Amino acid sequence: MAPEEKNPLARQRLDGKVVCVTGGASGIGAAAARLMVAAGARVVILDRDDGAAEATAGAIGGGCEAMALDVASETDIDRVLADIAGRHGRIDVMVANAGINIRRTAVDCSLDDWNAVLQVNLTGVFLSSRAAARHMPEKGGAVVVTASIMSFSGGGLYPNISYATTKGALVNLVRSMAVEWAPRNIRVNAVAPTWTKTRFIKPLTDDAELTAKLEALTPMGRLAEPEEVAHAMLFLASDAASMVTGHTLAVDGGFLAQ
Ligand code: NAD
Repeated sequence: MAPEEKNPLARQRLDGKVVCVTGGASGIGAAAARLMVAAGARVVILDRDDGAAEATAGAIGGGCEAMALDVASETDIDRVLADIAGRHGRIDVMVANAGINIRRTAVDCSLDDWNAVLQVNLTGVFLSSRAAARHMPEKGGAVVVTASIMSFSGGGLYPNISYATTKGALVNLVRSMAVEWAPRNIRVNAVAPTWTKTRFIKPLTDDAELTAKLEALTPMGRLAEPEEVAHAMLFLASDAASMVTGHTLAVDGGFLAQ
């Protein structure tokens, strides 16, 4: 009997799938890695912070591994993903989640800062997705990208020109890869989280007044937990989303619905 016949929810799981999570040492990526292990996947955390990646993988357990890489480096990505595919036979899912932030107004943003953010947030997602797609099996696979509410907004309370630019570009990178890879049954989608309680926005959440303003901007009146974003990622990575591709799913308490 097919697993689906025994359990109609089986397609929400990732049993036996080989999943890579970039930026998985912390925050949203770590929550996704933990959830995907619970859903039956073999998860490899890929992060430039190798100490934190090892610690997170160890805390998750269940065969979760860690490997060091910089998503901005084509050499790193291609070498590490070839190693994973060699050892596990394939890559089924890429969660292209690593991201950085250098908050500057447009007039104050140096070319070095601009290039650093583009290299990680945009080129890093392209390189990770491309390398994973090369190792996906004939039956297909999935890519899940971490975009942002700033993919669809000019910045809100504070200026963040390079970040908002990269997150906006990811929406169309996702659509373009989705269309190109649809014949191979590789689905490509993104999540667009609102402000999520990770160290990424610690400078904001350390400021109670600013946090209250961010909450007030959100119809649901609160920031997101990393696990709430991870559940949307699991859906998009799983066969439960088998007809969903090219989509960016807001996980934002209604922010973009206003
Ligand atoms: P985080 O700082 O907790 O996690 C980011 C992880 O990415 C870290 O472990 C870091 O070491 C890793 N990383 C950074 N640059 C890397 C590189 N070049 N190569 C490999 N790893 C690298 O932050 P988070 O909030 O979990 O952020 C994850 C993603 O979510 C980012 O893309 C971020 O833009 C996005 N996001 C965050 C929020 C938020 O409010 N926290 C909202 C929307 C989108």
